[in-house]
Amino acid sequence: MKIGFIGLGIMGRPMAKNLIKAGYSLVVYDKFASSSDLVALGADAAASNKEVAAQSDVIITMLPNSPHVREAVLGDNGVLDGAKPETILVDMSSIAPAASQEICAAAKAKGVIMLDAPVSGGEPKAIDGTLAIMLGGDETAFATVKPILEKMGSSVVRVGDIGAGNVTKLANQIIVALNIAAVSEAFVLATKAGVNPEAVFNAIKGGLAGSTVMNAKVPMILDGNFKPGFRIELHIKDLQNALDTAHDLHVAVPLTAGVMEIMQSLKADDMGACDHSALVRHYEKLAGVEVRK
Ligand code: NAD
Repeated sequence: MKIGFIGLGIMGRPMAKNLIKAGYSLVVYDKFASSSDLVALGADAAASNKEVAAQSDVIITMLPNSPHVREAVLGDNGVLDGAKPETILVDMSSIAPAASQEICAAAKAKGVIMLDAPVSGGEPKAIDGTLAIMLGGDETAFATVKPILEKMGSSVVRVGDIGAGNVTKLANQIIVALNIAAVSEAFVLATKAGVNPEAVFNAIKGGLAGSTVMNAKVPMILDGNFKPGFRIELHIKDLQNALDTAHDLHVAVPLTAGVMEIMQSLKADDMGACDHSALVRHYEKLAGVEVRK
């Protein structure tokens, strides 16, 4: 079985490396980034998305957002120009659920089966092969690709039909954003009240307020380390997809909208490339304190 891998960025590159390490034969392509390190590990390089598709039984895409997936799959020299019928296309990018459904329908017209399988966990888990993968789409195709996905993730859960993977990812991104905002607000209050924020962290992390987000982000905040991680501008992209999806369904998401505006103000303040833990900077400015060790 030959696997095509398209999109060799922060996430896609280590994910592709894990597939090579697991013994799969890969053909890879990125519109802008080099693939030489993957070729050195044994992958074949292709010159276009079409060329990847022509050589592959399963194609994985790991691209920034809906327009990039549309271009790579539906555009000139795209995946659908090269793919054979019965090819399985697994889009692991975080994109709008409606875009997944639309691209899936176009793929189906050419006999290509598309699944949406976004991930949670970030670069460290992409490197370790321990991502959480949430998948939507055809059950038989899911059974075929599950062993491949298990080489990149420690949890692979089918959550429903096409688009359900990205709906789940939006839920994940809402919870992460609001959790960072809550942690920021609370730790700024504690600091301004004169209580050592590291002591607050140690006191509450094991209780009901504790969370994976708190454990990952508070140490970064205490060190004033906002190196990404997960960039604010990527989180803005996900929250925009969440707001669009919610509004299409006539669902109001007031807290998501509020945190989106905070992220927009940080982006306007040149912090778009900072880790999303830099949300605390907004609350720090309002209170005139810094949450540091
Ligand atoms: P990235 O920008 O580092 O990588 C994307 C790659 O896609 C780039 O190398 C780019 O050159 C390539 N590309 C863009 N358009 C293309 C096209 N038409 N054809 C071929 N290649 C093309 O992004 P990333 O951080 O790897 O994120 C990828 C996806 O994973 C995003 O949807 C992101 O939201 C999601 N994600 C990221 C993280 C994270 O921590 N970085 C965590 C979870 C999920």
